[in-house]
Amino acid sequence: MAIETLAVIGAGTMGSGIAQMAAVAGLNVTMIDVTDTALGKGMSTLTSSLGRLVDKQKLDAATRDAALARIETSTDYQHLAAADIVIEAATEKIDLKIQILKQTELMARPDAIIASNTSSISITSLGAVLADSSRFIGMHFFNPVPLMPLVEIIRGLQTSAAAADAVRELAVRLGKTPIAVTNSPGFVVNRILVPMINEAFFVLAEGVATAEEIDAGMKLGANHPIGPLALADMVGLDVCLSVMDVYLKDFGDSKYRACPLLRELVAAGRLGRKTGQGVYKY
Ligand code: NAD
Repeated sequence: MAIETLAVIGAGTMGSGIAQMAAVAGLNVTMIDVTDTALGKGMSTLTSSLGRLVDKQKLDAATRDAALARIETSTDYQHLAAADIVIEAATEKIDLKIQILKQTELMARPDAIIASNTSSISITSLGAVLADSSRFIGMHFFNPVPLMPLVEIIRGLQTSAAAADAVRELAVRLGKTPIAVTNSPGFVVNRILVPMINEAFFVLAEGVATAEEIDAGMKLGANHPIGPLALADMVGLDVCLSVMDVYLKDFGDSKYRACPLLRELVAAGRLGRKTGQGVYKY
């Protein structure tokens, strides 16, 4: 099925990025959120992001204007009826996502694909709430969506091969590189990345090296663009901790034990950049 019209649910960081990228690629886009304020914020985020691309001469002004003209916003789920694909990118809360997906299934066309951008919730479990789970799939974009080239395409147990093929084609059309993933906690990238960050906290806690030395080591010795501890401050220490706790519970393997220092910093409210202090002070 050729995908020409995309609806995104949620106008936050990820939803507005998905809307922007899809509109630039020539798709008609509907962005849905619960309030006009949230939609206005999403539109202003993506308008400034497009403006920066024009300033840097990565996009011409006519393409930006055409992209903006292809985006409509609404608080009404009835607008999902025109979409070939609906991508859910609302707040990461399982009960909320279940409610949104059920409502989406009622409003979307029976042949439309339904995708979720969830970072941590099982695609198989989310799909199970739909009457037709064969058309449900994970599309995990990375932040900032317009700049990050990867999308993980996650097949739940019930996802059809046709849905996976259509979404893979869409990802390529959006200028992304898709990787095929079977549903599993953390998918691929976060499954490897977050335990690495957690290990950096163990190395710090054991006094093996200072935070600056650990970060310099991974930047210069492993060619990472940012050290793991500086990255933890960007992601949020609370987010890293809750991801480790999910892995520990879901895999039942003690290798996913969160570092006590990470837990201690979170308990102290040192969550990273967003609170002004994490491993480092900002
Ligand atoms: P966000 O908080 O920036 O935005 C969430 C938006 O969802 C808000 O605008 C909120 O008003 C809206 N929303 C809440 N309930 C809704 C409803 N019933 N209908 C429509 N909209 C509703 O969150 P985000 O960072 O954009 O994350 C969205 C999703 O993307 C989450 O599942 C998250 O795990 C995932 N994700 C986030 C990142 C990231 O780096 N931020 C990366 C990959 C995936």
